[in-house]
Parts: sequence; C-alpha cells; structure tokens
Amino acid sequence: MTRGVEVRVENVSKVFRDRGVTQALRGVSLTVRKGELFSILGPSGCGKTTLLRILAGLLKPDEGRVFFDGVDVTDVSAYERPIGMVFQDLALFPHLTVYRNVAFSLELAGWPSDRIERRVREVLQLVRLPYEEFAHRKISQLSGGQQQRVAIARALAREPKLLLLDEPLSHLDYKIRMELIHELKRLQRETGVTTIYVTHDRNEAMLLSDRLAVMKDGVVQQVGTPEEVYRSPANAFVASFLGEVNIIPAKAVNGLIKLGDLEISLERLLPGLGNYTGDVLLLLRPESISLTPPGGDGALRFRIQLAEKVFLGPYTKLLFSGWGDIRLEALAPTREAAPLEPGSVVDVYVEASEMRVYTD
Ligand code: ADP
Ligand code: MG
Repeated sequence: MTRGVEVRVENVSKVFRDRGVTQALRGVSLTVRKGELFSILGPSGCGKTTLLRILAGLLKPDEGRVFFDGVDVTDVSAYERPIGMVFQDLALFPHLTVYRNVAFSLELAGWPSDRIERRVREVLQLVRLPYEEFAHRKISQLSGGQQQRVAIARALAREPKLLLLDEPLSHLDYKIRMELIHELKRLQRETGVTTIYVTHDRNEAMLLSDRLAVMKDGVVQQVGTPEEVYRSPANAFVASFLGEVNIIPAKAVNGLIKLGDLEISLERLLPGLGNYTGDVLLLLRPESISLTPPGGDGALRFRIQLAEKVFLGPYTKLLFSGWGDIRLEALAPTREAAPLEPGSVVDVYVEASEMRVYTD
C-alpha cells in the first residue's frame, strides 16, 4: 500500500580532494525501510549532505553501493532515480510563479499541460497552499514557510518513491518549524513515500522520525528509534548529542567503582563487568536523578552538595558538586526543588537501570 522504496546503503565511502583531502564518509551502511520517516542527525560537516547527494545520484561514492528495493542504483543518474529532493537553500526560481516552479520538472518530463495542471493542483492541496490563492504568486511574494511548502510540493510532483530533505527548516523560526514538522509528518503518512530527513537539530529529529541515524566524522554511530538512541546511546558522543547528560569518569577496580561514599558494583549496571579493572565512563541524564527515594531496591543513593539552583519554570536545574571536581546536573520538578538551599548536603537517588557504563 505504501509507495516508497527500501533504501540500502552498503559500505559507502567518499573522499574529496579539491581542498586538501577530506574523508566525508567512511564505510557507511544503513537500511531505510519502505515508507519510513528516517532522519540523519549529526553536527555540521559530519557528511550528511554528502550521503544525501549520493542517494540522489548527484554524487558517486568512491566505494560501496546503493540499492533501491534491492536493485543496485549506484550507477543510475539522478534524473532516472524515483526521487524528490528539497535542498537546504530550497533552489526555487524566485522570479517565477508557484505554478511554474512546481510544474517545471513535469514539463521537462514531457507531461501534457492538462495533466500538469491537475497534478499542480493536487500537490498544492497536499501542502495546504490553496491553488486559487497561491498558484500565480511569485516565490518572492511568499513567506519563508510558504516557500518551504512550495519546495516540498515541487519535490512531490512526480510522485517520487523517495523524498530527500536537506535541513529544509533551518532558516525558519521556531513556531513555523514546529508547524512544518507536523505537516511533513502528515504528508509522509498520506503519501507513504520513504523519507530521509537530514538535520543537525536533535529536537527536529526526535519529533519527526520513526528511526534515525546519528553521524559523526563520516561514520554512523548508531541507528534506532528516538527513544532507543536517547535511552541507550552507543557512546558518549551520541548521548550528549541527543540531550543533556552527565558524563562521569571513574576508575573500576575488580568490578567496583567508588564515588564519594558510594560503592557501585559494575555488574549491577552492565552484566559481564563483574571483574573489570580500568577506566569507565558513567552516563546519567539529568532527569534520571530524583530527590525522593523511588520504590523498589534498585536505587543508588548519593550524598552530595547542592552548589546552585537555576529556575526554569516548571523545572529547576540543580547543580551538585562533589567527588573531587565532578559536577552533577539534575532536573527536578520546581515543587520538589523549592525547599533545597544551595550549600546544603542532600541525598539524591538514581535507578541503577538509568545509568549507562562505557569501558572505552
Ligand atoms: P554536513 O552536510 O553534515 O554539514 P557535508 O556532507 O556537507 O557535511 O561535508 C562533509 C565534509 O566534506 C566536510 O568536511 C566538507 O567540508 C567536505 N566537503 C563537502 N563537499 C565538498 C566538496 N565538494 N569539496 C571538498 N570538500 C567537501
Ligand atoms: Mg549539509
């Protein structure tokens, strides 16, 4: 019932040699399912656009293959791939009308004009730009959000099986961005088109995606649902890119770590580390630290000094210090944090299952 392709990227690498040598992609492999809304999330320069251009057929990989529904398309030109693309700068023709911008690729493909008109009406309706009001306006007479809708309509005009979007909302303000994210989600569900959305903004990726890939330095760090990558990040980079996190370096001796007055058995955090000796990193989200003892016996108790409180409305950020120069940040409901005085020593609690441990 979906009209999307499955996309498989196998061991793709790309080096640019025009300004020195830049390895933009290093052995990237991933599979995007039919009809999935998939994000590629990572900091600027990590290779997101390069990967998208390779999927579009605008750039050849040095190594590796790309498959659509199991068919090798690595050597198929962009024009012959069933794709629609929205570029970072939109690449609309500003002096032409909305109609001409959307119709452009259909004219190139030799569609008869009555069929083109029908299709332009359909896709403008799909992106909620009423034809009568917008079709004959010039791009330069539209707001940023409306231009964005035109770019999406144009990308959808030829009924692509794969929609590629490169940071399409980065130049819009927050409210319009949120609105368009919901629109995009609806549109994607309605059309069933497999969609790959590139962004450096974790909130966009979390709100939008069925699954996402986190990239750094041309390498895919982790693929999963937003909840999986947030709750069980593959490494400290993924953890901190997805949200606020406390990263606590510690030494383990024979499976035990000491933090202040507390001894933690690594075996409790990650089975198999019962005898581990060496450096570890403990990762803990601020919201996993609570001021009241949770039920059950899985909780670790820390006695620690409150250094500072920052009022954030419904929540209060609590900065603790202790165990040498380690600082611990917690996020607590303001109601619970209100009685605490900076300078005082308090007990905080963490469920062992909320703490992640990494041995390298
Ligand atoms: P992102 O989209 O994640 O910001 P890009 O894919 O645009 O990253 O770039 C990845 C790396 O490759 C960057 O270091 C960038 O400078 C480099 N790069 C991208 N395109 C070119 C090019 N045409 N020539 C030389 N270097 C490039
Ligand atoms: Mg880019």
